[in-house]
Amino acid sequence: MAAATSITRFSRHIASIKQRLTPAAISVLQSRSLNLQEYQSKGLMRDHMVNVQPFEIASTPDEAIALAKKMNVDEFVIKAQILAGGRGKGHFTSGLKKGVHLTKDVEEIGNLASQMLGYRLITKQTPGEGVPVKKLMIAEALDISKETYFAIVMDRHYNGPVIVASPAGGVDIEEVAANSPELIYKVPIDIVDGINDQQALELAKNLKFSDSKVNEAAEQIKRLYNLFLSVDASQVEINPFGETTDGRVVCFDAKINFDDSAKYRQKDVFAMEDLSESDAREIAAAKSNLNYIGLDGNIACLVNGAGLAMATMDIVKLHGGEPANFLDVGGGVTEQQVYDAFNLVSSDKAVKSILVNIFGGIVNCATIANGITKAARGMNLNLPVIARLEGTNVDEARKILLESGLNITPADDFEDAAKKAVASIQ
Ligand code: ADP
Ligand code: MG
Repeated sequence: MAAATSITRFSRHIASIKQRLTPAAISVLQSRSLNLQEYQSKGLMRDHMVNVQPFEIASTPDEAIALAKKMNVDEFVIKAQILAGGRGKGHFTSGLKKGVHLTKDVEEIGNLASQMLGYRLITKQTPGEGVPVKKLMIAEALDISKETYFAIVMDRHYNGPVIVASPAGGVDIEEVAANSPELIYKVPIDIVDGINDQQALELAKNLKFSDSKVNEAAEQIKRLYNLFLSVDASQVEINPFGETTDGRVVCFDAKINFDDSAKYRQKDVFAMEDLSESDAREIAAAKSNLNYIGLDGNIACLVNGAGLAMATMDIVKLHGGEPANFLDVGGGVTEQQVYDAFNLVSSDKAVKSILVNIFGGIVNCATIANGITKAARGMNLNLPVIARLEGTNVDEARKILLESGLNITPADDFEDAAKKAVASIQ
């Protein structure tokens, strides 16, 4: 019973954290990931001979108008560039509905751009307050006759890449996945053999491309797979992967993600990282190699291990406190990282107290204690610090804290630490 309650609370925590986070931040819980903007993804696709429409990128309404005037097209599509999906059904803090607009009127582009740029776009996939829009894509609007869903993901279950595809693509793909799972195809691809012609052709047929277009769609599928491999992506998602009334096969939207393990081989790709939507605290944490997620409370938590970090946040909440962050300093933590972690959490004005909860296994508690005392002295910290250290070299660690003469409250256990942290701000 007790275990069940604690698991429920644990998953509620994860759910509530995830709700507030961008996909980029969620993956902090395992490894860091890189998400590219649509225009960056399409640049890579173009390099790999995947069909994307010519596009321009504007940062001001005037620039948007000027670029559109140079494009010789009947109708334009204007798309807010943010890392989250669901833009078509989103809304801006300016009041404008939809992050994707079609128009034939060049002047209307200026009008739309001025209600998009500088405002926040809120979609199902963004945090509640939305994310700032700094760039717009302008491209030719085409008459789409068929919207399919196509993705390639690295899948742990299959130990390799899997193609996930559906003939019912477009903005309602989430509902299709939930209500009509029979319309979603999953095709595992052998990483050594790669995708073969027959698999690609069968997929194109299942996606219900027109008979005269299945070969071209199959060719695009193979090129997308080659792109996925050659850039070491963890995910390539095209929704919609479509056909136009005049018989073109086009990738209308694109989302390519990577994880950290690709970084050393894909320097050019990682150099494109756009941090303008990220929490400043999370950027600082990433520089120090700390797993950090900013939250809304006032008790900073500095913990080793993601599970212990979750449990610490849990017990803080149980005793009436609100955690200011999730922070896992990891197993191989150094004194410098402890210093950086203190710097990070204490520079957050909302933080009123710091709770350290370390279980020394691989971690040496004395390393943590030295980091704490150096940080407290170095930055003239005058926030209460509650430290619960247990495990490897704990006696030495306690001695370091005690002899430091600093105002650090030792705690005997988990619960004691949480109670003292909550009491320290009352
Ligand atoms: P999101 O997935 O973030 O909502 P998309 O780029 O998929 O954004 O755009 C949403 C919808 O807008 C698409 O499903 C498609 O119907 C339409 N759309 C996107 N690009 C074009 C285009 N170039 N021409 C016509 N319609 C488009
Ligand atoms: Mg889309």
